Amino acid sequence: MSHAVGSLKALRATDPAVFDAIRAEEKRQREKLLLIASENFASPAVLAAQGCLMTNKYAEGYPGKRYYGGCQHVDVVEELAIQRSKQLFGADHVNVQPHSGSQANMAAYLSVLKPGDVILGMDLAQGGHLTHGSRVNFSGTLFRSYFYGVDRETEVIDYDAVQRIAEECHPRMVVVGASAYARILDFPRFQKIAQSVGAYLLVDIAHIAGLIATGLHPSPIPYADFVTTTTHKTLRGPRGGIIMCKAEHAKAVDKIIFPGTQGGPLMHVIAAKAVALHEALSPAFKSYQRQVVANARALAAGLAERGYRVVSGGTDTHLFLVNLSPKGLTGKEAESALDAAGIIVNKNAVPYDEKPPAVASGIRLGTPIVSTRGMREAEMQDIVSLVDRVLQQPQDLRVQREVRKQAKALCGRFPIFHSYDAAST
Ligand SMILES: *Cc1c(COP(=O)(O)O)cnc(C)c1O
Repeated sequence: MSHAVGSLKALRATDPAVFDAIRAEEKRQREKLLLIASENFASPAVLAAQGCLMTNKYAEGYPGKRYYGGCQHVDVVEELAIQRSKQLFGADHVNVQPHSGSQANMAAYLSVLKPGDVILGMDLAQGGHLTHGSRVNFSGTLFRSYFYGVDRETEVIDYDAVQRIAEECHPRMVVVGASAYARILDFPRFQKIAQSVGAYLLVDIAHIAGLIATGLHPSPIPYADFVTTTTHKTLRGPRGGIIMCKAEHAKAVDKIIFPGTQGGPLMHVIAAKAVALHEALSPAFKSYQRQVVANARALAAGLAERGYRVVSGGTDTHLFLVNLSPKGLTGKEAESALDAAGIIVNKNAVPYDEKPPAVASGIRLGTPIVSTRGMREAEMQDIVSLVDRVLQQPQDLRVQREVRKQAKALCGRFPIFHSYDAAST
């Protein structure tokens, strides 16, 4: 037990099976073109904090008001995480304890709603998230959920329809935010809609938090009662969630996180959140986010030039959907052909999709990871060629083999995980 804490050597000695799986995952992340829009590469500093011995500490409660002794040092990291989120987003009150984005949403709902209340969210099938009222999720069984979506022609949110549906279903909470929507969200308009029917407004910025933190997407903070986010998507931190709210909801939010829906906070993850928020306050993070959006635009435009149908005709954010039905392909087929070629995307329903979600007519592409690696517009053109080559001949194993080599070579020009390599040998 005298090795350095968090050492990979110790892991290898204790548990070679887990060590080997982590090594293989490291190789996968290093060598494949990862275009999953909800993922990112956390920095070595974030990984170090997340892997630290604060995991050993129980700290039920909040800084200065804990149910356990010995919390003076974990209090420091939680205070830092709170102060930095306030600085980054400008919220009145912040709770950094949610274990995930889903837990953050559950707590935001339960802080002011009762079971059986009506919520109005974006339809999962049109870009929304499971926790916005889906029948297979707690949000759709605990609450009576109604949905809005996008216009069939423009594939952009139909705000007049949202107003109409709100007047019909009388929600107690309007939920805004998405996992597969590429356009700027109009928060002032959503606030008007919520106010007109006497509903609370919850904005879930899980995907676009990094863009909002750097001013590349308008902020919901002035308009929403509650703003929830994950910390591991564009924000590039550890896996986890954060709730921000107006001062009047502060007490209710803190109470529903602990003791309402969670026990002890993950202090090692909160330490890593503090580090990620510190990184997000730096000028470098702003240029990173700018490149993420520029790359998504370049990738979408490049694919459109080759005849791919980009949903809503383009993107304002880090992601977009491609509808592959005009190409005679399903999302499932495209995902698996690309996977075999070392390009990782996910199949995704497109608006008004007629195929079941497990097949889907589209794929979702995002640029957070390739941008973290340092790729720019020129490399997006390379990716366009590789994706197009695979999708033109989705059954051709030789093409997949060649593209896999090219994808690996492209990744090799943008190396990452150096320190990790060194530590593991
Ligand atoms: C990813 C996501 C979440 C959930 O985050 P988890 O940490 O996976 O629970 C919530 N809302 C939206 C819009 C998301 O995209």
